[in-house]
Amino acid sequence: MNHFAYHDRDLCCESVPLRALADAVGTPAYVYSRAALLDAFTAYDRAFGDVPHLICYAVKANANLGVLGTLARAGAGADIVSGGELYRALRAGIPPRKIIFSGVGKTRDEMRDALKTEVLMFNVESAGELRALDEVAREMGVRAPVALRVNPDVDPETHPYISTGLRTAKFGVPIADALDVYAEAARLGGIEVVGVQMHIGSQLVKVTPVADGLVRLASLVGRLRERRVRVGMVDVGGGLGIRYRDEAPPTQTEYARTLLPVLRELGVTVLVEPGRSIVGNAGLLLTRVLYRKETVDKKFVIVDAAMNDLIRPALYNAYHAIEPVDRARLAGPRETVDIVGPICESGDFLAKDREMARVEEGDLLAVMSAGAYAFAMASNYNTRPRAAEVLVEGNRYTIVRRRETYEDLVAGETAL
Ligand SMILES: *Cc1c(COP(=O)(O)O)cnc(C)c1O
Repeated sequence: MNHFAYHDRDLCCESVPLRALADAVGTPAYVYSRAALLDAFTAYDRAFGDVPHLICYAVKANANLGVLGTLARAGAGADIVSGGELYRALRAGIPPRKIIFSGVGKTRDEMRDALKTEVLMFNVESAGELRALDEVAREMGVRAPVALRVNPDVDPETHPYISTGLRTAKFGVPIADALDVYAEAARLGGIEVVGVQMHIGSQLVKVTPVADGLVRLASLVGRLRERRVRVGMVDVGGGLGIRYRDEAPPTQTEYARTLLPVLRELGVTVLVEPGRSIVGNAGLLLTRVLYRKETVDKKFVIVDAAMNDLIRPALYNAYHAIEPVDRARLAGPRETVDIVGPICESGDFLAKDREMARVEEGDLLAVMSAGAYAFAMASNYNTRPRAAEVLVEGNRYTIVRRRETYEDLVAGETAL
């Protein structure tokens, strides 16, 4: 079901008209649909059905406590990549035994915190990290549950900045070295091997590369078992893509159906770390048109949201659909425009050469699919306060993060 649709004259999130929301909370604002979040999470949970599994939401996609709390109550675990995300996940009520700690550069302090809270598993990305974790665990008199993040050397066929499963990536242990690193892990007193993990990239629109990677992982698991290394958990990572424009990524059901035969055969608990595919299409960025500007060559629509609110177009040349909130505009003339923000950078655009309904000064626009890697990547560049985040449930809404104030922006600084 689409939770962002026109009802009467306005585009709505669930039953809340975005025009009313903009009047109440101002713009720019991120608007999330609780129902859309839960639909996506439930689709994963059902897709893995009767196989023992845990869906660990990748917190970095959208770390808002309202989002995390909603998913926590639905039974989600968390995939975290920093001590800060551990703090957030715990604050949101995610049980430590449902938290996995990923990331290529964990510090010893972060390791200590995660060991103290007794997280489910550390996804270790190098022999150096393994030795550091062993030392920290032994100092604390505990054993750290570990999966090695194995780099299966498959091409995820996505944007190079979000490809992580090729041999040349900084991520994981090359699959050719994995047996040696596992052998070392098995000898370390502070380490308990519990699983194997991979994560080959993000915004994947085909499941084939994941399936290919999993076959390589499965053969590694077989060889580890021959050496009496117990592997009870296989973590297939996240990365499933969403539709921004005309992509047709597999559904959660198709994704699971492709992977489950191999996973069943291994008889393991399955871990999945989806971020974007849970929250990406559950949010939009609401913005207001400040000005129109026409030159002989171009037409610009200048809006109050900018690259500091949504960096994906500038960073990945990403496409986000942009819809007028006022339904009447859809029946009017069309034109080709650049939609740009107020920031002093030519890279500050939300859309380039976009053919769309003509909009006027004061109109509201919805930048779609802005639930993932939008607020999460927001900055205060140009000393712009970060926008409010709102979570809608039916005809009600909650401000789950208030708009920053100028005071917030200088808190912690010292004037000389
Ligand atoms: C980013 C990341 C994810 C989530 O990726 P999505 O594309 O948002 O699903 C999962 N696991 C790890 C290790 C990651 O770095």
